[in-house]
Amino acid sequence: MPAIHRGHVYHIGGSPLVLSAADALVDLPDGALAVDDDGIIVWCGEWPDRPDHLADATVVDHGDAYILPGFVDTHMHFPQVYCADSYGGGQLLEWLDNCIFPSESLLADPGFAAHAAVEWCDRMITAGTTTGLIFGSQFPVAQDLLFQTAHDRGLRIVAGRTIHTVGPDSARALITSEDAAIELVREEIERWHPLDDAERRNALQFVAIVPRFSLAVTPRTLAALGEVYDEYRDRGVYFTSHLNENARPGTGEVDSVKAAYGVETYLDTYDGRFLPGSKTGGKSLLGRRSVMAHSVHCQDRELARMAETGTSIAHCPVSQQFLGSGTMPWKRTVAAGVNVAIGSDYSAGDEWFVPRLLNACFKVHISEAGDAGLSLHPAELLFTGTLAGARALDLEDRIGNFDVGKEADFVVLEPHRWDMYQHTLEHAVTPADPVMARDAHLFGVLMLAREPALTKTYVRGRRLATAAAA
Ligand SMILES: [Zn+2]
Repeated sequence: MPAIHRGHVYHIGGSPLVLSAADALVDLPDGALAVDDDGIIVWCGEWPDRPDHLADATVVDHGDAYILPGFVDTHMHFPQVYCADSYGGGQLLEWLDNCIFPSESLLADPGFAAHAAVEWCDRMITAGTTTGLIFGSQFPVAQDLLFQTAHDRGLRIVAGRTIHTVGPDSARALITSEDAAIELVREEIERWHPLDDAERRNALQFVAIVPRFSLAVTPRTLAALGEVYDEYRDRGVYFTSHLNENARPGTGEVDSVKAAYGVETYLDTYDGRFLPGSKTGGKSLLGRRSVMAHSVHCQDRELARMAETGTSIAHCPVSQQFLGSGTMPWKRTVAAGVNVAIGSDYSAGDEWFVPRLLNACFKVHISEAGDAGLSLHPAELLFTGTLAGARALDLEDRIGNFDVGKEADFVVLEPHRWDMYQHTLEHAVTPADPVMARDAHLFGVLMLAREPALTKTYVRGRRLATAAAA
């Protein structure tokens, strides 16, 4: 029997680009979402308009709560589950060396890894992150635990072991030979990725090929990964890595990559053009299931190439503030036609909760210098935290909004669980113009939200439970 969830429903309907998200905003103050036994959305609309065929449906009344599509976080690091706000005494490369490589090495211990996998999935469920694109552990035992726990809990994840074939001493435990790296990637795909077409249509867990970044691998590794990706690309395997994150002159990540490879652009290293002078040395890793994290310091031709190949960006404003990386130029990036989704980059970002990422996103872009700055529309923020993420993961036909026929991933935000949230939304002045009033309310719903207000997380119509609650 279908279930009808009643509450204040928001979503971005259809399949717009970010610039037309406001026109696609669906706001149903007394709204309802009907979900069948398979977790598929069969109807979404105003409560009084519910069709006769749903008369016998089970009603789940969420009271004054907001019902939003499940959040999609397109950049996270599983082996950093306990690393938020680690003090590295510098920027990206120092933080990796002093804090992150030693921490990620701890997951070699199966007991520690088991604890980490449970913690990770609990944090995703508690934050309403129904789908995550995850840089995984280097250790297969930890990856098995992550995939199994996500499967048991019902979370949607795309994950892959973080590949290192070169690196500093602090990363020694994370580094394998190039041959072993390729072998481990193949094994992970064969073990956890739904290779069969029918199986893939129903699957919730998928595998990605994930070199940490170009400095953690070599031209030979990238060539071999290109071969593997080419072999599995048609069966829905993903690719993700970091791009143009930290540009401290001379010693930062961007200059280091260019110096190490002798390439014209950082993106070239992922595009098969990783030989000196950006000569082609292998197959491209870009495409519509490829996601580049950060992309703060891109050249125009890199943005054009991402747009051309359907490669998306995981924009991580909280992380970029933490590591002093600057921010992705919003207008220029969007104007280039690249799909921009949100990412926590947990743990360089110390927030799990996607509305907090969207809050930072608003603040950093209104603060961009001169004409680059803009006031993002609340519908653009909602789009970036939901539908853009579904698009980045090539899952837009299944999730991202409440269009009929999609799988019902949604979250419930209860204002009374967070006093400031409830009181501010209740007593704020309502603009006289109805469209402005609608937009202002959604802006408050997103910007003021804190994690305690998020009380229920559903994937494919099923409410997920944390280990503590189970
Ligand atoms: Zn990252």
